[in-house]
Amino acid sequence: MAEANLNKVTMDKIVSLCRRRGFVFQSSEIYGGLASCWDFGPLGVELKRNIKDAWWKDMVQSRDDMVGIETSILMHPQVWVASGHIKNFHDPLVECKACQKRWRADELTEQKCPACGGELTDPRQFNMMFKTFMGPVEDTAAVVYLRPETAQGMFVNFQNVVTSSRKKLPFGIAQTGRSFRNEITTGNFIFRDREFEQMEIEYFVKPGTQEKWFEYWVNERFNWYLKMGIKKEHLMLRQHCKEELAHYALACSDIQFLFPMGWGELEGVASRGDYDLTQHSNASGKTLNYNDDETKEHYLPYVIEPSAGVDRGVLAFLCDAYDEDTADGEERVILRFNPRIAPVKAAILPLSKKEPLASLARSIFNDLRSNWVVQYDDTQSIGRRYRRQDEIGTPFCVTVDFQSIEDNQVTVRERDSMTQIRIPISALKATLAAKLAGEPITEGSVAWKSGEIAQA
Ligand code: ATP
Repeated sequence: MAEANLNKVTMDKIVSLCRRRGFVFQSSEIYGGLASCWDFGPLGVELKRNIKDAWWKDMVQSRDDMVGIETSILMHPQVWVASGHIKNFHDPLVECKACQKRWRADELTEQKCPACGGELTDPRQFNMMFKTFMGPVEDTAAVVYLRPETAQGMFVNFQNVVTSSRKKLPFGIAQTGRSFRNEITTGNFIFRDREFEQMEIEYFVKPGTQEKWFEYWVNERFNWYLKMGIKKEHLMLRQHCKEELAHYALACSDIQFLFPMGWGELEGVASRGDYDLTQHSNASGKTLNYNDDETKEHYLPYVIEPSAGVDRGVLAFLCDAYDEDTADGEERVILRFNPRIAPVKAAILPLSKKEPLASLARSIFNDLRSNWVVQYDDTQSIGRRYRRQDEIGTPFCVTVDFQSIEDNQVTVRERDSMTQIRIPISALKATLAAKLAGEPITEGSVAWKSGEIAQA
């Protein structure tokens, strides 16, 4: 079932590549690290930004029925009472009486401590929200929470957005931002963190149309991952059964990815009825009704919520793209990223550090960097430089050689097929633009079409 590259990829390889090449570092590493908090390095920050930008472009800016917002991490404490998080955002915690290690009771298969075999305490409910204090006095009246999801920011602003943007149903409100959960068990690198980022949509629909829109959003989001290059055999939908659903939820499906440790949730799509707006309307005393101009009815819309994790997305894109093969008789590691999310789009590689080659290569580099993130590399052999770029997923290498001075042409090498083609420098930008335009990577489509390039 698993694709060839998932036979090659292990979490250890991903973690070590991420550290070596500057994708992800452990938070506060020089102090021994802080559990389940991570820092994104120079390449990681570009990758993460590209994923969020692609989501924002496709889900917000390209659609007539979506608007974006950005709400604060700290919210009125009543928000979390109304949303049910104070009462229900719990995990069952058990502690080993012998070694004091803590576990999530529902993750254990046996009634004893996995670390030392000791006896466990009875489970107690542990609220996963981080607390802090607002203002100088640390008393209960000053308690505020770090949000455990961005979603509540959309619900409490529902009326503000309707009034100010005059959106008609169906429409959605989207945001990306940090969330915090005091998870009992973390691990698997950036899969489960205590501080992470989400990309969430609340899509408001007329009651009675929720089934159609639920199906629409499950497909829309599943297909988005395919369009972004994730292999179909690494993705799966998991529909929640009735027993798993929250009491108000009408339906829920997870989009799962085949991580090296097994299938895991990448994104959840939930049909939540009018639960959230009802709760906030009752708790705040403010009407959150939608006034339907066509039917003259006033009602609370139903909502469909596609909720994705950015960090899990980064991990999925890294694992999906990871591959190993041989090039020129040498082993190479490649990240076969979709060009749209690749942190570096092209590398300029002069065959010599000397003039006049250096000036020509620099001028090409300066010209390209006004459009894209590009790297300039003039150290070590050309083979080594190709390997370095393959390993960080750069789709194109542009080699500037002595002949380039004579004929004003450069060699463009494509990462996946390693095909090389010579094109005029004057055609370079347009050629790269066409190739980087975000075409979906499906089998076969990444193969270099030399005819097409020659015409560019
Ligand atoms: P899980 O069952 O894995 O704990 P969840 O069902 O609680 O996840 P949701 O509340 O639906 O997750 O959150 C939506 C998305 O946010 C998840 O699909 C995931 O991508 C991301 N997410 C949730 N918790 C974490 C976490 N601790 N670290 C990283 N990403 C997370």
